[in-house]
Amino acid sequence: MSTKIVILGAGYGGIMTAVKLQKMLNYNEAQVTLVNKHNYHYLTTWLHEPAAGTLHHDNCRIDIDTVIDKNKINFVKGTVESIQPEQCTVSLADGTSIDYDYLVVGLGSEPETFGIQGLKEHAFSIRSINSVRMIKEHIEYMFSRFRNEPNRTDFLTFIVGGAGFTGIEFVGELADRIPELCKEFDVDPSLVRIYNIEAAPTALPGFDPELVDYAMNILRDKGVTFKINTPIKECNPDGVILADGEEIKAGTIVWTGGVRGNSIIEKSGFEVMRGRVKVDDYLRAPGHDNVFIVGDGALIFNEENGRPYPPTAQIAMQQGDNLAANLVSIVRGNGQLKKFVPELKGTVASLGKGEAIGIVGNKKIYGNTAALMKKVIDHRYLYLLGGVGLVLKKSKF
Ligand code: FAD
Ligand code: NAD
Repeated sequence: MSTKIVILGAGYGGIMTAVKLQKMLNYNEAQVTLVNKHNYHYLTTWLHEPAAGTLHHDNCRIDIDTVIDKNKINFVKGTVESIQPEQCTVSLADGTSIDYDYLVVGLGSEPETFGIQGLKEHAFSIRSINSVRMIKEHIEYMFSRFRNEPNRTDFLTFIVGGAGFTGIEFVGELADRIPELCKEFDVDPSLVRIYNIEAAPTALPGFDPELVDYAMNILRDKGVTFKINTPIKECNPDGVILADGEEIKAGTIVWTGGVRGNSIIEKSGFEVMRGRVKVDDYLRAPGHDNVFIVGDGALIFNEENGRPYPPTAQIAMQQGDNLAANLVSIVRGNGQLKKFVPELKGTVASLGKGEAIGIVGNKKIYGNTAALMKKVIDHRYLYLLGGVGLVLKKSKF
């Protein structure tokens, strides 16, 4: 019997593991199964765009069938409910179970709400095709409701909680979409408010201050109001209450205040910190040498400063790459496992059409150059996943 490898989640970490395995393994060398909730892979890093309605959500998803070789990978469309590491089995929501010799967990993240009252119930979050489709529809609905209840200007107020990269990228897109919506719904643009509310003393905490200033100025010019050093304390159906007691009424609240690992990992008995497993150098969960965690569920530390690496697609993809090579060594019983060491190439964040900021290598970039670089990064991923064909199909140029 050949080795059974099961990959949970077809996000950046999971699908890169699968695609690399199919390139490296010979037919029948291992039984590889990929399990994912949907029959498509979505580009989480693009989701701020369909959330605001500046890009169609179909542009952000890729049929899994088109990137995997079914002769080498068995794809199961299913929702994982739990993992039983002692029995080496995974239970799916339809009542079936799958057994494995080696497991790769790439189930991504969930919004971190820090127990803030009302957020789970009343705020949207940018996390999947289904969630962003709802945000876009809701934004449009608020404009149409305002047309029918013109005294309710709060329907035209948008609150984005958290000015990390997700919040900043989303307000950039939203600000770009507003003029189009105002035209479509005959709304005076001066009635629209976009608040980006941040608890820390600065937007994009920890990022280069000069680039943060640049980003905030661009976004302010597009109509975004920042409230910095102002934690959101509570969320209700009508808006938010800030730590300083101010209440802002709004028709739309989008929470971009951070993420934690998928709760399935914790529920399955793995030891976690904010839902993430502190994996060893080979991405293994402590005490379980046959369970590997990739992507947002894996907690890894930067040895230089002792701080955790932020969860990013860049790292998830590199982990997939490293792990696939290690799994091939395990299957073939040859060679030593290679430690995972992230090779950070930089960070580029979009600020809407034609504007972005970033650090690539040691170089700061902004404006059009950074926006172009962002597109290059997006296309590079498509190329790694599905070659030139996928780049041409999904191109943003
Ligand atoms: P994901 O890509 O989230 O994939 C998880 C997969 O698991 C999904 O396919 C999901 O459907 C599936 N799944 C979840 N639960 C189940 C279940 N129970 N059963 C079956 N399947 C399940 N990072 C960067 O490096 N650069 C960027 O520019 C960048 N931009 C971003 C922009 C936005 C708007 C956001 C929200 C994030 C961005 N990130 C960026 C972060 C990056 O998207 C994540 O770090 C990355 O997606 C993590 O990859 P992953 O494989 O862990 O999970
Ligand atoms: P994050 O944790 O990076 O940022 C969340 C922000 O919300 C923080 O600035 C935090 O101070 C703030 N916050 C927390 N509680 C708050 C409160 N009560 N009130 C107001 N603000 C509050 O989360 P994210 O932006 O969702 O990013 C998640 C991960 O994805 C990160 O690792 C990020 O680097 C990555 N990402 C990268 C890019 C990119 O590279 N272009 C884009 C998006 C996300």
